[in-house]
Amino acid sequence: MEQKAFGTGNPSTSVIGQGTWYLDRGDRQRAIAALQRGLDLGMSHIDTAEMYGEAELVIADAIAGRRDEVFLVSKVLPSNASRRGTVTACERSLKRLNTDRLDCYLLHWPGSSPLEDTVAAFEELKRAGKIRSWGVSNFDVDDLDELHEVAGEGNIACNQVLYHLKERAIEHAVLPWCERHGVAVVAYSPFGHDDFPAGSSAGGKLLQRVADAHGATPRQVALAFLTRSSALLAIPKASSAEHAAENAAAGALELTKDEIAALDQTFPRGARPRGLPML
Ligand code: NAP
Repeated sequence: MEQKAFGTGNPSTSVIGQGTWYLDRGDRQRAIAALQRGLDLGMSHIDTAEMYGEAELVIADAIAGRRDEVFLVSKVLPSNASRRGTVTACERSLKRLNTDRLDCYLLHWPGSSPLEDTVAAFEELKRAGKIRSWGVSNFDVDDLDELHEVAGEGNIACNQVLYHLKERAIEHAVLPWCERHGVAVVAYSPFGHDDFPAGSSAGGKLLQRVADAHGATPRQVALAFLTRSSALLAIPKASSAEHAAENAAAGALELTKDEIAALDQTFPRGARPRGLPML
């Protein structure tokens, strides 16, 4: 499994990670088995959030006894992101995850708490050893500019954003901004949440053709495309061990320039939207 840096100077993690939104809604043992299979196959990056119901509790069971293998990421809700609120939200997440530290802690989306306060809390948590790094999610370039003013260069580990074959808005400005500033870009909902191109569509047929050329699957091709540059990582969510294994194998798939060009043409980037799309 290829490893990529999570922001300048931070430890690396698996290019393909594991999302956990709605993972608490189905069979718990099946979800635990999926996460563990993913870990076995090198998907060390596990993404969660205080917003995801009991997902943090499911993860706690999945990673029991193997915390050191995991690159654990959670998120604070904007409504909790005050100076004190961020610290107590982090402590609640640590308790639910049954661990003493997060590898990265994110602000889930821009809210009304001053960024100075959230960043001060992140830095306090870092000094206390409760988080190793911090980042953001759903930040557009104007939000990133404001954050950069507050935090300075080299302190933002990642920006986690909506990115899949049918939604490439980040390529206009967010991805270049992050590349310029050494910020990792984590693609969430890389399968469109539940909107993966149908096999009968032109895009679906191309994905199948490219997949056949590599003995891979269309979803593996999608993940390889979405992580084609050095700043890009992806966090598909899988609730079965079979799906987790399929996703993990995408970490070894490399597409040719021609294949990337064909995918680029068939799933056009489109015009730059007014605001950054998010789920
Ligand atoms: P997603 O990963 O794009 O898609 C998940 C769907 O794909 C599920 O229905 C899953 O089914 C299916 N799937 C996964 N692997 C598969 C495979 N190999 N074959 C067939 N189907 C497969 O959607 P997502 O959960 O929205 O996004 C991923 C993660 O990103 C989330 O879980 C969360 O951690 C994060 N996220 C963050 C934000 C944010 O605001 N920061 C927003 C949305 C998501 P099964 O469950 O049956 O395996």
